[in-house]
Amino acid sequence: MSRAFRGVINYFTNQRISTSSLQFRLTLELVVLSIMGLGGVAFWAGWQMEQNLVYAHKQTLEYIAMGFPDRIKLYSEMGMLEVGLERTINKVSTSGLLVWVKSDRGNIVAHSPSMDSSSPAILDMDSLAQVPAKPSVVRFGDRYVVLCGNPLAVNDRALGMVYLSLDITEDRQKFNSALSRLLLVSMLTIVILTIAIARRIRKAMQPLEQMSQVASAISADDLKQAQLQLHRAPDEILGLATAFNQMLFRLSGSWEQQRQFVGNVSHELRTPLTIVLGYLQSLLRRGTNLSAYQKQALETATAETERTIRMLQDLLDLARADSGNLHFRLNPIMLNTLVMEVAAMSQKVSNRKIAVSIADEDVFTCADRDRLQQVLINLVDNAIKYSSMEQSVDLVLEKSEKYAMIHVCDRGIGISLQHQNRIFERFYRVDESMTRSRDGTGLGLAIAKSLIEGMEGRITLRSKPNEGSIFTIILPVWNPPL
Ligand code: ADP
Repeated sequence: MSRAFRGVINYFTNQRISTSSLQFRLTLELVVLSIMGLGGVAFWAGWQMEQNLVYAHKQTLEYIAMGFPDRIKLYSEMGMLEVGLERTINKVSTSGLLVWVKSDRGNIVAHSPSMDSSSPAILDMDSLAQVPAKPSVVRFGDRYVVLCGNPLAVNDRALGMVYLSLDITEDRQKFNSALSRLLLVSMLTIVILTIAIARRIRKAMQPLEQMSQVASAISADDLKQAQLQLHRAPDEILGLATAFNQMLFRLSGSWEQQRQFVGNVSHELRTPLTIVLGYLQSLLRRGTNLSAYQKQALETATAETERTIRMLQDLLDLARADSGNLHFRLNPIMLNTLVMEVAAMSQKVSNRKIAVSIADEDVFTCADRDRLQQVLINLVDNAIKYSSMEQSVDLVLEKSEKYAMIHVCDRGIGISLQHQNRIFERFYRVDESMTRSRDGTGLGLAIAKSLIEGMEGRITLRSKPNEGSIFTIILPVWNPPL
């Protein structure tokens, strides 16, 4: 039983089913119910079989005991009761049924031919304090007998006590082996039932699992295409799936509206802000008689306006990328020169040394040069922003058979694992004072991802807190025609 139970537990472990899942609980409940049901039936059937067996033997003994005096009378010749007694005993005795008669003084006056007074059966039975008058099952060591003892009187003459004993050991053994077979069959049935129930419930739960997989895989980008396709599922689950699909449809609609709204707002705000920036810059340029305070105020306003315009441009780019309206001018470009240019440019602006390591051969990819440059500048900018002056920033260009890889490496503050999964989300910034204090919008990496993916590439991150980060742009290699 314990092996079967362990097998069932192993089944659940192999299938990676949690013990708190509905599948596990339902299976367990049904299995317990079937064990109780089948076990109960098996137990009842066994008990009934035993009762019937013992009852039949008791009946036989009772019948013989009742007719015993009449038989003695029948077999007595000329009133010789002793002869009648002897003959009756011989007639009724069989290999399993023993009969003996004890006089009132306690000595055996007649007995079955197959036993004598020293026979162990009689000795054992003699040790019984009281032999029951009604046939009852008595156990002697490893043997079972149905036994009864009654006063014997024929023609008003008391002959003593007559004892009848029917050995039912063999029948009981046969019964026990039948019972063990019944138990074995019941256990096998329970194991088969358990596996069948577990599989059936697992199958019934599959649509729900499918739903949860779809739900957890959906991102804002693929809301439109996300649909739960269930072909063969019960009506209740089909209803749930339809409601789920309708909800996705509504979500996708409102997400679309939100995107359009952000795009429109960014577009509408950018134009007046650009005009404001123009005025501010011209004021700064021409205002020769400005006080120091006024000059500083104008500089701050200019910087903030520039930052807001940049953010609006980013939002506009993202909205365009989302709606598929971000167009790329894809041309073969040599990455060796692009990487060198970006390094030189960033070095000049930041006053930081940027080490460049470039593959010996020329590496080409098919991409939008300006967009790729924008992404690279953004990554190098971050590497500089999130590391200190003395920590080096490296730009590495590598080439494999199919891909070109540009690594932007820094040895700065790094990003912990919990943030790495979300770092490419819009407006996501690591909520630590050290990064919060540095200016930024949290849109740079989201745009970088959109742009690189729009050019059929990928962007990955490897990072360790306090050790630094490596952002890698992976693009397909373009091979010039021979
Ligand atoms: P931000 O304008 O805030 O830099 P990004 O999208 O470029 O926006 O980056 C998002 C967040 O990722 C940043 O706020 C910062 O917490 C983290 N981050 C980006 N690059 C690095 C880096 N090289 N090292 C450590 N943290 C970084």
